[in-house]
Amino acid sequence: MDTQMLIGSKFEKGTETDEPILNPKTGATILNLPEASQAQIEAAVAAAKQAFVSWSRTTPAQRSGYLLKIADRIEAEAREFATLEALNCGKPINAVLNDEIPAIVDCYRFFAGAVRSMPGVVAGEYLPGHTSMVRRDAIGIVASIAPWNYPLMMMAWKLAPAIAGGNTVVFKPSEQTPLTTLKLARILADVLPEGVVNVVLGRGDSVGNTLINHPKVNMISITGDVATGKKVLQAAAKSVKRTHLELGGKAPVIVFDDADLGAVVNGLRAFGYYNAGQDCTAACRIYAGKKIYDKLVADLSSAVSTIKYNLSDDTENEIGPLISRRQRDRVSSFVERASELKHIEITTGGKPGEGTGFYYQPTVVAGALQEDEIVRREVFGPVVSITRFTDVDEAVNWANDSDYGLASSVWTKDVSRAMATAARLQYGCTWINTHFMLTNEMPHGGLKQSGYGKDMSLYALEDYTAVRHVMVAHG
Ligand code: NAD
Repeated sequence: MDTQMLIGSKFEKGTETDEPILNPKTGATILNLPEASQAQIEAAVAAAKQAFVSWSRTTPAQRSGYLLKIADRIEAEAREFATLEALNCGKPINAVLNDEIPAIVDCYRFFAGAVRSMPGVVAGEYLPGHTSMVRRDAIGIVASIAPWNYPLMMMAWKLAPAIAGGNTVVFKPSEQTPLTTLKLARILADVLPEGVVNVVLGRGDSVGNTLINHPKVNMISITGDVATGKKVLQAAAKSVKRTHLELGGKAPVIVFDDADLGAVVNGLRAFGYYNAGQDCTAACRIYAGKKIYDKLVADLSSAVSTIKYNLSDDTENEIGPLISRRQRDRVSSFVERASELKHIEITTGGKPGEGTGFYYQPTVVAGALQEDEIVRREVFGPVVSITRFTDVDEAVNWANDSDYGLASSVWTKDVSRAMATAARLQYGCTWINTHFMLTNEMPHGGLKQSGYGKDMSLYALEDYTAVRHVMVAHG
């Protein structure tokens, strides 16, 4: 197992406090990894700064070639990456191998193509005797900080557009899930010139905090909690760094009475519980029309009670445990507080799973009201609430009545109603008659406290490059 950080061309262990890396399926410690010292962070930033000089001058075609090599190497070692990610995150191996790895490989390939054909305003004589053109150039050193829910995928979403755009990167994975990052670091050191990507390990309030406050860092890209995003903004203000924030979510799902009930139930069973609900787009906040409500609660509860987890044959598992005991206890306390309310019924689940792993039963919370904590706060676990609505205005107002603005969905057979409702939702994404589906060509990112900045798509490449105007006087 790779345990060393990548600083310039050197692999080295951190020299500071050990962080235990746990197997969420058992609670056992896989290994301890020390975090980076201030000197090691300094060296990583210096290596990125040094590399920027030549990397930012490479052609799009050259950078594209590097990205394609990274994609090929991940694809060639797909099973090893999937096994490691499954071990560190508790994910079912098939979910990583069949869902995540192909999307990760495709992300590097997408940006390899996208950087060679960036669109823009045409050059021309907008003032007589002067030719103007727009350039898009690299920003500089990007500090990239990732969460624990999709470690290798978040790394792809951050690295691919950043290095495609000509930037160099100091990357910090979540202190809980560094293993696939460390494996990829070996490939990055093989493929890329020295210092283009550096990897440091450590906790947010130590290593993360140093990175976001570092005077030589030009941009901070972070996926994490809203509270962490706010700290990033405060740090960025000191030297006016560019920021790219992907923060939490609490996705509303509006189910109209005419929706295809079977499709809704299948969709919610899949998209409310995927990755044990540790997904900022999880379909977790259902608003159901008054006619479909009872049947939806009954059918969804029975479908959710069949979700397979904690089976000894991992290929049978549909979801894994939560990432940590702390996260499991947090989810549990949300459900306990909800169940104390008279109007709420836990129709399936509602308890931690058995054994030493950090499992929580897939849970449906019926009868929830708009003001309930379970409807308003991000649970980040396998828990879906259902609330009854009476008319479309109520549904849209409740859906929008949230600090979050990342993802949403609308379920109806009526195309006009679907389009009219989607137009009123204040979310970075609205799916119609589906949820959760992402593709590298399309942007992913939020509004409101879900942050701003897009992952994937040409918009991400725009976020990781600076627009510049060059004007030539004809003389
Ligand atoms: P977190 O904010 O605790 O940690 C995320 C990363 O930030 C980690 O690497 C952590 O070490 C680092 N960090 C924490 N405090 C920091 C600080 N003061 N300075 C610098 N870095 C710091 O979040 P988490 O618990 O790892 O991840 C779960 C959260 O991420 C959820 O709220 C979820 O909604 C969100 N998320 C959002 C998206 C999205 O695309 N919007 C995607 C995945 C996860």
